[in-house]
Amino acid sequence: MALHDPAEAGRAALESWRDDAGANAFTGDPAFRALLERVLGPDPTRDARLEAVAAAAGPELDALVTEDNRDEHLPVVRRHDSFGRPLEQVVFHPAHHEIGRVFWQSGVLAELAEPGSETLAGAIAYLLDRHGEAGHACPVACTAGAIKLLQRLGTDDQKARWLPALLDTDYDRRVHAAQFVTEVQGGSDVGANSCVATPEPGRPGMYRISGEKWFCSVADATLFVVSARLAGGPEGTRGLGLFMLPREIDGRPNGFVLRRLKWKLGTRSMPTGEIEFSGALGEAIGPLGNGFRNLVGIVLDTSRVHNALAACGLMRRAFDEAASFARRREAFGQPIAGFPSVQELLARMKVRTLAALGSTFRILAMSDRLDTGGGDEGLLAARRVAVMVNKYWTAIQSTRSARDAIEVLGGNGTIEDFSCLPRLYRDAIVIESWEGTHNTLCAQILRDMATRGMHRGWLAAARAEIDSLGHPGVAAQAEIARGLLDDVSRRIDRLLAASPEEAGARVRHVVDRMARLTDWLGLAVQRHWEIVNRRDGDTEDALALYRLAWLERADPDDRPEMAALHARLAAGP
Ligand SMILES: Cc1cc2nc3c(=O)[nH]c(=O)nc-3n(C[C@H](O)[C@H](O)[C@H](O)COP(=O)(O)OP(=O)(O)OC[C@H]3O[C@@H](n4cnc5c(N)ncnc54)[C@H](O)[C@@H]3O)c2cc1C
Repeated sequence: MALHDPAEAGRAALESWRDDAGANAFTGDPAFRALLERVLGPDPTRDARLEAVAAAAGPELDALVTEDNRDEHLPVVRRHDSFGRPLEQVVFHPAHHEIGRVFWQSGVLAELAEPGSETLAGAIAYLLDRHGEAGHACPVACTAGAIKLLQRLGTDDQKARWLPALLDTDYDRRVHAAQFVTEVQGGSDVGANSCVATPEPGRPGMYRISGEKWFCSVADATLFVVSARLAGGPEGTRGLGLFMLPREIDGRPNGFVLRRLKWKLGTRSMPTGEIEFSGALGEAIGPLGNGFRNLVGIVLDTSRVHNALAACGLMRRAFDEAASFARRREAFGQPIAGFPSVQELLARMKVRTLAALGSTFRILAMSDRLDTGGGDEGLLAARRVAVMVNKYWTAIQSTRSARDAIEVLGGNGTIEDFSCLPRLYRDAIVIESWEGTHNTLCAQILRDMATRGMHRGWLAAARAEIDSLGHPGVAAQAEIARGLLDDVSRRIDRLLAASPEEAGARVRHVVDRMARLTDWLGLAVQRHWEIVNRRDGDTEDALALYRLAWLERADPDDRPEMAALHARLAAGP
């Protein structure tokens, strides 16, 4: 190499941005640490544990995730053994299993053994989800749903048989779950499910399941949670039950054929199959007539919170990648982080992340209160509505952040082995659609408000939080929150008085405002805590930018102070 070879110098400079990649995802994320301290209180032992989780999920794990997601390493189906007997197995690259050991050993599922541990388990998931490794994030979400289903509805016998292995931290002997609901005739319209469950003669509680499932993620799971229509039962969602099917019985596939794995846009290291059941043996879980209610209220509810955690992890990672690149990459003789337009992108990414963390951990705190007996029907309703609003909103924000991060990296941002951003972008689009598409979630929120009055609990929870903003240092923010609450409350009343057609046309716009209020509240509550506890942080600036950019839709041309906000927010960790 020539001594002053500009290409080599440029290559070295370009590579130097990876130097920041070793930063610990927990200690290097002071805003998240402060959020957790507000929600859970100070606890050095917990912090040390999360630091260790983040260290285990550091750059080495990143390298494994990259390997796991290479085209040539994606999972494949092995349908038969060498003697022609059915296997219906999914075969993974070895990196996949190494990553899985880190995920399971973190205790992200084991924590769920005790009530009141959702926030801590969520914190672990957030740290793990920064890699965009859906290959394990999705199984963790599905397994968490199965654990909740069993804890709430399982018989003593079912709990004893399944829970210890579902909660195990040992990846190699774990049971991990999948949830199969969607059929080819429609995913959103679950009432159109046509898989049939026929009682097994002489074995009460046992059923034979037959029919097709069209989207079967975690196709390698050891336990399938499946929705099916009781033979001869009513049509629509009322006729659906929930069943648990072991993957194998006596070492053989339990009455199913794994037709193929789907060729997907994102979440590619996670196998999503098409599965045909013909007389698979399963046991009912929970009352059969309540299958749909339990599916939405427990299984999908859990996945939707995990979806939001994945969105948060993805957004934070996208910010970290873009910010560290911008600080190192030079153009026109200066680091690109110095350009105001780059600062604007970074600042918006950061504020979206802070808002999403606030709204997601608000829900986890509600879960912990409810699980430990500290809640009532109102809180239950508030949480249920909040979960759906939050899944919808955080998924959209994560796509925006992943795309913005790619813009900051320029052409390099589109290259698969330059950074994780292409993978994050693809995954973000997938997490927008599974566990309820946007319109489906909005339609469910409308139904919950119209038929069960759940908005009352949601509004009351928001009002109580606004009332808790007692420090004069957040009086202005509390006033804005009150205005947003009054506005959204009026709009919900109008929505519920409208015809079904009008309500259908408007609901998404009302849900957008519900999301904006929740974002604002999360940031304001955090700022209140910072003032009371004399802490520094970005939250005051985040609130200022959120107000200007998204509540007032201000034009930086008219509000020159926005540039300084962008610069400060982009510069911080
Ligand atoms: C990678 C991947 C993995 C998946 N894994 C699983 C899995 O493991 N298990 C599982 O059960 N499912 C899984 N799904 C399916 C996913 O949950 C469905 O895709 C989703 O529920 C939507 O169903 P659909 O694709 O049939 O879309 P459709 O229901 O056909 O919807 C198409 C469009 O119509 C809109 N729409 C539908 N109904 C209404 C309405 N009432 N009002 C307004 N708009 C409406 C939707 O919002 C959407 O935009 C997976 C999906 C993907 C992409």
